[in-house]
Parts: sequence; structure tokens; C-alpha cells
Amino acid sequence: MKICILGGGLIGLAVALELRLAGAAVVVLDRGSVPAGWAAAGMIAPAAEGLAGTPLAELAFASRALWPIWAARLEEFSGQGIDYTPCGALVPAIADAAAPIEGHQWWDSTQLASAVPGLAPDVTGGWWLEKEACVDNRKVLTALRLAVERMGAEIWAGVTVTGPADPGLAAVATSAGPVAADAFVLAQGAWSGAWGLPVQPLKGQMLALESAPGWLKAIIFSKNIYLVPRRDGRIVVGATQETVGFAPGNTAGGMAGLLTAALALVPGLAAHRLLEQWWGFRPATPDAAPLIGPGPWPNLHLATGHHRNGILLAPITAQLVTRALTGGGEDPLLAAFSYRRFGTAPR
Ligand SMILES: Cc1cc2nc3c(=O)[nH]c(=O)nc-3n(C[C@H](O)[C@H](O)[C@H](O)COP(=O)(O)OP(=O)(O)OC[C@H]3O[C@@H](n4cnc5c(N)ncnc54)[C@H](O)[C@@H]3O)c2cc1C
Repeated sequence: MKICILGGGLIGLAVALELRLAGAAVVVLDRGSVPAGWAAAGMIAPAAEGLAGTPLAELAFASRALWPIWAARLEEFSGQGIDYTPCGALVPAIADAAAPIEGHQWWDSTQLASAVPGLAPDVTGGWWLEKEACVDNRKVLTALRLAVERMGAEIWAGVTVTGPADPGLAAVATSAGPVAADAFVLAQGAWSGAWGLPVQPLKGQMLALESAPGWLKAIIFSKNIYLVPRRDGRIVVGATQETVGFAPGNTAGGMAGLLTAALALVPGLAAHRLLEQWWGFRPATPDAAPLIGPGPWPNLHLATGHHRNGILLAPITAQLVTRALTGGGEDPLLAAFSYRRFGTAPR
């Protein structure tokens, strides 16, 4: 069976690897837009994101549980480290205002002070989410590309998919001519709306600050700002959420907002060097949940619309899409993620 993946970002490559391991012949078509998977913060943090109790909860917490093994396998197949770290996350309470997070431990200001340097004095405590984790998502992308190719899948870089080549979707039209396959997986991220699906870009601006390795040990996840540690000491600070289409670039307002919120939370960061700034486009859907499962053509499977949680959801997406395409059937977990929940088919 030949399966063609449309889009070689984080989700497309994760699906490609799993399908290849299941024995399918796999071709990935990617045009080389900067993927959200490169721009992301790398949090694997469904509790901090407030997903508990939402329709996405079961999928998200199941994927978080898969991450340690998925990360180890990816490192083995690629020969590259990806810095998966079960670092935990802290949701700080500012002037006592933080809704309780069920099933999690409360830290008072003394415990906080020993764990997070330089916090603002109005942080009176916080919820400690010990099972949350983070990963260097740029390293994940590099490792996925290597692993996918090492396992014998083809990546056609610089190829743009323009749509179906025929009404039955026996092939897709591309800048390199029609490409035929037995099945297609749509993984074009924020650009998936070109297929008539309800996926829009949601721009996120980010920056990174320098610190010594281990200065920040856990994710700090506040209402309007988060800080994510990297093993080399970089602290990733994010992120704006802007409905501005695919408008590129960092803006003065975006950077000012991030820095103001970060320094209000951790004044101790003021003297840290600014290392980098960047932006990316989340594949957003109207209900912030992904589109996974059969698509508007019988041989088109969807793996898109992962919104703010595509890093978190990559392992389970790859697993469930592979199961469905290799005869293992549709997992009941996916019932809530059909594109049909938004109404009639876009074709
Ligand atoms: C600022 C920011 C912070 C984030 N932080 C987190 C986080 O901490 N944790 C988390 O879980 N998620 C996070 N996310 C979300 C996560 O990054 C995305 O949900 C995820 O990367 C989506 O993966 P994807 O493969 O669907 O899309 P992408 O990674 O964007 O990949 C899409 C790919 O499709 C290709 N493509 C598009 N159109 C075509 C075409 N016509 N032809 C050929 N190729 C095409 C592109 O070149 C690209 O490589 C964040 C996102 C952003 C922007």
C-alpha cells in the first residue's frame, strides 16, 4: 500500500514514521514553509492548557502518557537527541487568584522560591503539575526527518500540493506533476484550509532568553505568558495569539507584550540576554480541537487542525491514523474529531 502524506511538518512526519514502521510505502510531499512544529514552545502540558474536562482530554492525556516511549523510540531510530524532559509545570497564583486545579499539589511561596528563582513577590503560591513535560521541538523535527528517511520513506522537499488531480482523488496535483497513491493523509497544518476545511492560521510570536542550564527547571504557565526551559539554558517565552492571516514577522507590540508579561511574573529575568525572536502559525479550528479521521474523499485521511497542542498530540495522532489506514479500524477516541462536526462536507 502506497500512502502519500501531504505536508512534512511535525504531524505529517510523525504519521509517516509510524506508517513506515507498520510496513506501508510512504512518500511525504512538503513545500518548505516554516512549520509550526519548528516555531512551537515544546510543551507537553494538557493539564496546564486546561484540557481536563474538555472533549480533547482523553486524547491529550493519552498522548502525554505515550511521550516517554515515543521520544525514546525516535531517538533510537534517528540517532539524535530530542531533549524530552519530564520537567513538570507550575501554574502560579498572583495575589491568590488561581482557580484550583483538581488532583494537583499546592505550593506555597516558600516552596516556590526554592524552585523558581526571581519570581514576583505577588506570586503567593501555585499549582504544581508534576506529570507535564517539555521537549525541544526543533530537535524533534530534525530527528523525525532523519528517522523517516532511514526507515525508507521518501521526503520530496520543495514540492507544493495544489489540490486533487481528479474528482476521485486517485492522485494529487503538485508542482512536480500528479502524484498517485492508494491513500493520502492531509497534514498541511495551518495551510490545510486550502482543502475547504475549517482550519485557519493563528499567529504566535515567541522569543528566547539566555540563562544558565538548570536556572529554570519547570514550565511556568500563567494566564497570559509561559516560560519553557531548554536543556542548554535557553528560556522560551510565548506566545501571542493573533488572527492576522499569514502576516509574517515579529512586531513591536508582540514583543513588548511578551516581555512585559514575562518580567511582571519573573522580574529576575530583566538582566537576561535576549537571544532570538520568531513566529509561527498554529493550525486553528473553531473549537480548538483537531481534525483526525476520514476526510471528504474516501481515500483522504485528515491529520490536521492541532491548534495549540500539536506537539503534545503527535504520538497519539500518528498511532491512530496508522491504525485506521492499516486495517486496524477507527478508534472510538476519534469520534469527536471528525471534520463532520462542523457541518456538511466541504466538497
Ligand atoms: C508559537 C507556537 C507555539 C506553540 N507551542 C506549542 C506547545 O508548546 N505544545 C504543543 O503541543 N503545540 C504547540 N504549538 C502547536 C503546534 O506547533 C502545532 O499544532 C503543530 O506543529 C502542527 O503540526 P502540523 O504538522 O499540522 O503543521 P506544521 O508543523 O505547520 O507543518 C505543516 C507542513 O505542511 C507543509 N505544507 C503546507 N502547505 C503545503 C502545500 N500546499 N504543499 C506541500 N506542503 C505544504 C508546510 O511546508 C509544513 O512543513 C505551538 C504553535 C505555535 C505557532
